[in-house]
Amino acid sequence: MPRASHPEPVYDCVTCGACCYNPDQNREIDYVDYIEIDPHDRIMKKPELVRRLVVLDHKLRPHMRLNQHQRCVALGGRLGAQVGCGIYRERPTVCREFEAGSKDCKKYRRERGID
Ligand code: SF4
Ligand code: SF4
Repeated sequence: MPRASHPEPVYDCVTCGACCYNPDQNREIDYVDYIEIDPHDRIMKKPELVRRLVVLDHKLRPHMRLNQHQRCVALGGRLGAQVGCGIYRERPTVCREFEAGSKDCKKYRRERGID
């Protein structure tokens, strides 16, 4: 069997964190409402988390607050080294459904310099 010259990277989320940053295509148009929160998501039932981590867009839809580096404020650790979601049990549905190894995962990893 031929040996692959570029083996597939291991999509290990705890050493990544790239999808917890606003992607380049959003940055280009100053779009920051990246991590939308379903009003039924668990985080919305925790007032203390809402106060610290949630902002509303112009249509009053909730989404995760980003810091000055366009990084979700709930992300702890260092991008590409060791990271963790600070609200893992209460993270929004979009975060739960995002698939490691998906097309977007690969794209976001490239954008943030992981791969
Ligand atoms: S970009 Fe992919 S590998 Fe990185 S944290 Fe997100 S899902 Fe995991
Ligand atoms: S809530 Fe957690 S998983 Fe979702 S973007 Fe923020 S740090 Fe990442």
